[in-house]
Amino acid sequence: MTPSEHLAELGRDFYRRGWVLGTSGNFSAVIQREPLRLAITASSADKGRLTIEHFLEIDANGNVLGTSPGRPSAETLLHLAVVRTARAGAVLHTHSVWSTILSDYHIGHGGFFIEGYEMLKGLDGVKTHEHREWIPILENSQDMNALAAETSRTLEENPAIHGFLIRRHGLYTWGKDLTEAARHVEILEFLLESVGRRHMMEPQY
Ligand SMILES: [Zn+2]
Repeated sequence: MTPSEHLAELGRDFYRRGWVLGTSGNFSAVIQREPLRLAITASSADKGRLTIEHFLEIDANGNVLGTSPGRPSAETLLHLAVVRTARAGAVLHTHSVWSTILSDYHIGHGGFFIEGYEMLKGLDGVKTHEHREWIPILENSQDMNALAAETSRTLEENPAIHGFLIRRHGLYTWGKDLTEAARHVEILEFLLESVGRRHMMEPQY
């Protein structure tokens, strides 16, 4: 399976789970590291009907290579920032209900910890449910250069994280390859939903 075929299949699956409704979300995978080549979703692609025609190949500056029609996703610069700073092989971005709600609820603290959950062990390198996972939250913006710079800064300051949220917007996660990145989406979406639903059952025991 090519990276675009794999990404299209993942996108349709994430759509069915309600994580990338409409044209929301975007996905990328490294095709080649030197020089950098990335397969990334085209802008405005409907995620429920994603096919390989909805992917473009771009270089390290976000320029489209070849003759593919369409523009790369508006958030291309964020994908490139994650690929560079976290040395990721794939970057997946969802707009789920729970990432949207929790990123708003915790914005005042710049993020929140998830700890004590067995499912944390699905994150790369995590061996125990006692792990404390910091989930940073970035303020949303339509200025992609500023948001990409903020993304790089967040990853440099928090090298152990597996994902971050953008306020009232969604989740970014990644992995050394597409399989790991997809697992991180599943694990983090499960954890965000669990934490969010638990908040609604106050008091905490
Ligand atoms: Zn987005």
